[in-house]
Amino acid sequence: MMTASAGRYVALCGGVGGAKLADGLAQVLPPDALRLVVNVADDFSHLSLRISPDLDTVLYTLAGVAHGVQGWGRAAETWHVLDEVKRLGGPDWFLLGDKDIALHLLRRTMMEEGATLTAATRTLAQLLGVAVCILPVTDDDVRTMVETDAGVLPFQTYFVKLRCAPVARGCRFEGAQTARLSAQVEQALRDPALAGVIVCPSNPYLSIDPILAVGGLRAMLRDADVPVIAVSPIIGGEAIKGPAAKMMRELGLAPSARVTADYYGDFVDVTLIDEVDAALAKDDARLLVAKTLMRTREDRAGLARACIEAVEKIRKDRKDVLF
Ligand code: GDP
Ligand code: CA
Repeated sequence: MMTASAGRYVALCGGVGGAKLADGLAQVLPPDALRLVVNVADDFSHLSLRISPDLDTVLYTLAGVAHGVQGWGRAAETWHVLDEVKRLGGPDWFLLGDKDIALHLLRRTMMEEGATLTAATRTLAQLLGVAVCILPVTDDDVRTMVETDAGVLPFQTYFVKLRCAPVARGCRFEGAQTARLSAQVEQALRDPALAGVIVCPSNPYLSIDPILAVGGLRAMLRDADVPVIAVSPIIGGEAIKGPAAKMMRELGLAPSARVTADYYGDFVDVTLIDEVDAALAKDDARLLVAKTLMRTREDRAGLARACIEAVEKIRKDRKDVLF
């Protein structure tokens, strides 16, 4: 069912957590009313292929072909290519299934023929039957480096090879200072029909920060006329998946939904937190309680509706003040 909503929405997202809400938004909004702005700072080159983990998680999730449990790659995958790479002594620490490799070969071919990452992503979405607009935040190179007690590590070394074991001290986003938002992302944010911006429940440090670091996006959102809301990736003091809560502890913070809200405090109007954390919202008007744990596709749609309602409520309250 489509939500009768006036305007368009921009959602910022990383991989797993972001993709789930993105799928919810895609269920309740017409395709033209949604622009997904996706992190590319986890990207790297492997086996001569451009790997874009977050873009592909979003793409596969919206296409309904994502692996249901592992949080990356495709369902019903086979492993002939990687098995042979390994047998021949090649690197096998980063898992790429056969179907996944097929997509990477097409992306590589398009980009070698001159397509931008944005254009290649649009074509891949079309080929997978995804109507929603999926936009890499930038076509320039931005690379996350994690500062840890084991040194400064490229993101994939920290995340995949070392399974987030080193103690994190902070992140740097190489290239972010000079990277520009793509024209399509600029347009989406300056769209007169923009109703609001939604920050998906992605890792604030690893997925959202490297989006905000590009082209002054954080300042743009701070100055935005439209409501900006977020969904906390922390439920009951823990992350559903990945190192968000671990990183908070390592940064000296007690993980909670409020930490995310505070972290986005300069540009987010309202943060949706889970029912189990309702007590936090009692005397904090910036926190709104919703069912934020997305187990089923219906949960995703429900949370998407709650996000849209939150945006519409802020818009209405602002209008009421004006008139
Ligand atoms: P990654 O790039 O694949 O690590 O994905 P993201 O950064 O987009 O997502 C990781 C975050 O998603 C983690 O901090 C999780 O706590 C959060 N997350 C995953 N599933 C859910 C969910 O169902 N609800 C909420 N609120 N957060 C979730
Ligand atoms: Ca990611």
